[in-house]
Amino acid sequence: MLNHQNLHLIQQQLAPYNAQLVAVTKKQSIETILQLYDAGVRVMGENKVQELLPKYEQLPKDIDWHLIGHLQTNKVKQIASFVKCIHSVDSPKLLTEIDKQAKQHNRIIKCLLQVHIATEETKFGFTPDELLLWLEQNPLSNLHHVSVIGLMGMATFTNNKTQIHHEFKQLKQLFDECKKRYFALQDSFCELSMGMSDDYPIALNEGSTMVRIGSLLY
Ligand SMILES: *Cc1c(COP(=O)(O)O)cnc(C)c1O
Repeated sequence: MLNHQNLHLIQQQLAPYNAQLVAVTKKQSIETILQLYDAGVRVMGENKVQELLPKYEQLPKDIDWHLIGHLQTNKVKQIASFVKCIHSVDSPKLLTEIDKQAKQHNRIIKCLLQVHIATEETKFGFTPDELLLWLEQNPLSNLHHVSVIGLMGMATFTNNKTQIHHEFKQLKQLFDECKKRYFALQDSFCELSMGMSDDYPIALNEGSTMVRIGSLLY
């Protein structure tokens, strides 16, 4: 069930930052997602293709679906006809495949490059060095069906707020460096997807423009 009070509280907290709420709907029922929809939410995030597909089928078509979890290359074609934004682009190969599948549908899919900022080894993403080395080769010039709009990252799962601040600050610095060096002329490169239920106030403080919030909404 939707927690209306928390939704409004989060929306009020995001407003001064002009940050976008991506309402994470994983493991939630169609009924609960419709409550979000009726409350005016139109940007929803799912972390698995097999959960996203039936929800896309059953729910109103004016929802902007964002894929936020690890995406296998062979599953891109299942979502390429409708997905608005993919936050979890963690390899050149995946980006190339998204471009190829988007082309089949004559679409442009927004993408965020996921950066590994946490100390845990399980989190996916480019390391900052890998990302800069790759961008140095001008890899996006031939990809016309993806629009790389920014970076995404997840902080370490910890109670240590200083560490979370530090990790988000590093991601913001990397974003600024990428912007300056490789995307200075692209106004569309402007998004920093960081912050979840437990750490979004810190993320906003460190420059997040998109927060991916699930559990706090229900
Ligand atoms: C589940 C998930 C979230 C939301 O997490 P909550 O703690 O429920 O807010 C954000 N980002 C990703 C990639 C997720 O898988």
